[in-house]
Formats: sequence, structure tokens, C-alpha cells
Amino acid sequence: MDVEVISEDKKSGRLVFYLSNANPALANTIRRSIVEEVPVLAIEDIEFRNNSSVLYDEIIAHRLGLIPLTTDLGSYELPSECKCNGAGCAQCQLKLTLKEKGPCLVLASDIKSKDPKVKPVYPDMPIVKLLKGQKLEFEATAVLGQGKDHAKWSPGHVYYKHKPKVVVSSKDCEGCGSCVKSCPKNLLSVEGSTARIDKERLMECTLCEACTAACKKNALKIEPDEGCFIFYIESWGQLSCREMASTSCDRIIKLLSEFDSQLKKSGGV
Ligand SMILES: [Zn+2]
Repeated sequence: MDVEVISEDKKSGRLVFYLSNANPALANTIRRSIVEEVPVLAIEDIEFRNNSSVLYDEIIAHRLGLIPLTTDLGSYELPSECKCNGAGCAQCQLKLTLKEKGPCLVLASDIKSKDPKVKPVYPDMPIVKLLKGQKLEFEATAVLGQGKDHAKWSPGHVYYKHKPKVVVSSKDCEGCGSCVKSCPKNLLSVEGSTARIDKERLMECTLCEACTAACKKNALKIEPDEGCFIFYIESWGQLSCREMASTSCDRIIKLLSEFDSQLKKSGGV
């Protein structure tokens, strides 16, 4: 297996790379492991002390649950894997508080965290607008969780597609340029008397096959490269894309070793 990073934008949280000498089973295992297994922090329980806003407690609770929180995986454990056995301790949960009085727009940045490392990723996310005299006060508990239990614990969006493979037969190609005109993404050009695809922008190809249909000489073939994928990781902000990828591998290894030990434990009949 080979990995070649095509682009990485740490600010917007996007990592794109070629995954070659692989197969769909492996690509999908990595994708599902990132989305469902990699844990992140999210608000799970809320105790409302005061809420005279126009929104019900349930609506505010739902909004709070979906606020991404920066997650330090070195400091927190999943409740099911914590020493407290899920009872709740400083290793697996964190208290967050808010106390605001109107008139104001309550933002995610108004949430006070007991751990300075954990705070809302997007401070300008609005929670509720308070009019004069209205109040909102609560204590929330954030816990580490996994995307397989609720989407609020998903660290991001992961998808992939086959890398396109373009073969131009220089024997048949007359350099007429009909394929160039047909490409909706403008990826083709004619060099000398042969059509060629822009290798830098290959990932923009959607395999629509407009070029092959336009070529009267059947000189152009475009097909998915079965063993090579263009892999996209987009983070919601709790973790970096590289943290998401490496933690997903740790989770796969953990599941496999659990499977191995269970199999060894259960003897044959
Ligand atoms: Zn605990």
C-alpha cells in the first residue's frame, strides 16, 4: 500500500491523498473506522438551572450537543474503557457551564469550560437570542463518544473514489480535439497530435465518459483504477485530519486484537 498526499489544509481541516495498491475493503474499513470508531467529546447531559428564552430546554440541549468541542484524546477515555467503569470521572467527562442574561445573542464562546484545552471549535455558533430580562443558565456534561452511537460524536466526513485511468492510443488519436470540447471540467488538451489529460487536476475527473463518447476513433479510454483511490478526510474541527486517520488505525488494531483474544479464549467443542 502507498500513500501520497495531494493536498492538506490544516486551517479548514481537509486532507486529500492517493491510496494506491489497496482495495475497496481496506479503503472502506479506514473510512468507517474514522467515522464510527474515532472518539470525540460532545455534550451529553445538561442540567438547566434557568431558561426563560423562547426555546424549550430540549431544543437548546439538541443545539448544544451538536457544538463541536476541541478534543484532547490523550486526556480522556471512553466511559466504557475508563477506570470508573462508566460511572463518570475526570478521565471520561468534563463539566461546562453557561450563565447569560438578555438582551444578548448567546454564542458557543459563552460556554465556560473547566478544561482550557476543551472549548467550542467555532466560537461564533449561535445558541439562542435572549430578549431583555430573559435568562439562560445550565451545567452541561461533555463525554467522549463514538459516531456509531450518535452523529454528534463523529469527527468528520470521509469519502473516496477511484482514481481515473486515462489511456490514449497515439496510433488511433488524430488530435481532432472533440474530446477536449466535450469534457465539462476542461481537463483535456491536445499536445502535438495526441490528446492528454491534465495530471495535476486528475482528481477532478468524475468518470462521466463524455470524452470517450465524443471520440469517433475510439482512441480514448477512461476507466477507474481498481487499486487506487483518491481519499478525502474532512474534519469537523475536534481533531486534526492526521489525528483522525492515525486514531482510526489504533481502533482497528484494538478491535482485531479483541477478536483474536476472544477466539483464543473460546475452545472448540
Ligand atoms: Zn471515568
